[in-house]
Amino acid sequence: MSRNPELFERACQTIPGGVNSPVRAFRSVGGAPRFIKRAQGPYMWDADDTRYIDYIGSWGPAILGHAHPEVVRAVQEAAVGGLSFGAPTEAEIEIAETIAARIPSIDKLRLVSSGTEATMTAIRLARGVTGRPKIVKFEGCYHGHADSLLVKAGSGLLTFGTPTSAGVPPEFIQHTLVLEYNKLDQVRAAFEEEGKDIACIIVEPVAGNMNLVKPAPGFLEGLRELCTQYGALLIFDEVMTGFRVGPQGVQGLTGIRPDLTTLAKVIGGGMPVGAFGGRADIMEHIAPLGGVYQAGTLSGNPVAVAAGLATLRLLSAPGFYEHLSAQTAKLAQGLAERARAAGVPFSADHIGGMFGIYFSEQVPTSLAEVSACNVERFKKFFHAMLIKGVHFAPSAFEAGFVSATHDDAVIQATLDAAEQAFAKL
Ligand SMILES: *Cc1c(COP(=O)(O)O)cnc(C)c1O
Repeated sequence: MSRNPELFERACQTIPGGVNSPVRAFRSVGGAPRFIKRAQGPYMWDADDTRYIDYIGSWGPAILGHAHPEVVRAVQEAAVGGLSFGAPTEAEIEIAETIAARIPSIDKLRLVSSGTEATMTAIRLARGVTGRPKIVKFEGCYHGHADSLLVKAGSGLLTFGTPTSAGVPPEFIQHTLVLEYNKLDQVRAAFEEEGKDIACIIVEPVAGNMNLVKPAPGFLEGLRELCTQYGALLIFDEVMTGFRVGPQGVQGLTGIRPDLTTLAKVIGGGMPVGAFGGRADIMEHIAPLGGVYQAGTLSGNPVAVAAGLATLRLLSAPGFYEHLSAQTAKLAQGLAERARAAGVPFSADHIGGMFGIYFSEQVPTSLAEVSACNVERFKKFFHAMLIKGVHFAPSAFEAGFVSATHDDAVIQATLDAAEQAFAKL
């Protein structure tokens, strides 16, 4: 008998829903989550020692594959030197210099421990700098779980059909304007009406929390222009896309410079690291230089920073992103071909090391189109793949992630499994 259901039942006794982050619970696909014992390269092993090809990749960080020996060594060496000091370290300067050198829009940055902290503080900073209360976000975008951002959000909120969290008083979100992704007209109208009160726009420049949805041509450019025109700040939430879609995130691919950028996931290499950064004149409003407060006992933690630095170093290898993108493209195209051969309405999209799979003929360009995909088919496909040893995200509303260790053999094994799974649909 499998140990996974037994562990899940035990977990549910003391952990709400049995998990420490909602989507992990398999509630939207049914069944018991796989409890992971260890992971290496493209694989994870569950409590039964069953091996899976992993396309969750810790929801993004595992871009080098799991337990990369150089990252593990960096963590071990840092840990021996002490786990946390509450005083600055040289490694924090190194990671800040590395990130600032690679992302042109970032002059200065501050480290935190999660994406949620990064976006929450970036919003506070934008309000502090502009002296304005309102923020613009888009339906289906997820920016972590700070109160003012938990409105019509993506990720787990979308997965479980409660896009706005309970426990957030209406007064807390009265300054959050929620618009539709890729609808520039709505943004223009909002600025025409209340532009003098809008502190910032926060956007996933490629959305990855309502499945994968790319920006329409001109959308991000339009946001940049409107922010400049009205004196609002443009925040690119690149927590997922930063160092994932390319060496400079979406801003490197598009050439659009946001005023502030939020990062996490890849920059921690599997350890808790987040960051927000941008123009020096904006960042200098943060305490102790300025009046916008932010702090963290474990911010810039030496062990976490060591993992992040080792990861960033390995990402600068020549051809890294070309290889990652090529493998992701093979997966996405291969899945689409096999679905077509089986007569299953299906499409796939990809960018860098991220992909989306959709049970619809066309790649969706909006939350409405994502929501119109066939979720029942996704569930069947998810479980058919899981049984064959391929672990996709247990939700039709999440992007998938490929690592540099997903070589041709791994992709081929995935496509062979998919051929059989599609045939069953
Ligand atoms: C994951 C994610 C967050 C939240 O990051 P946490 O580290 O989970 O708090 C914020 N924004 C985006 C775009 C994300 O993908």
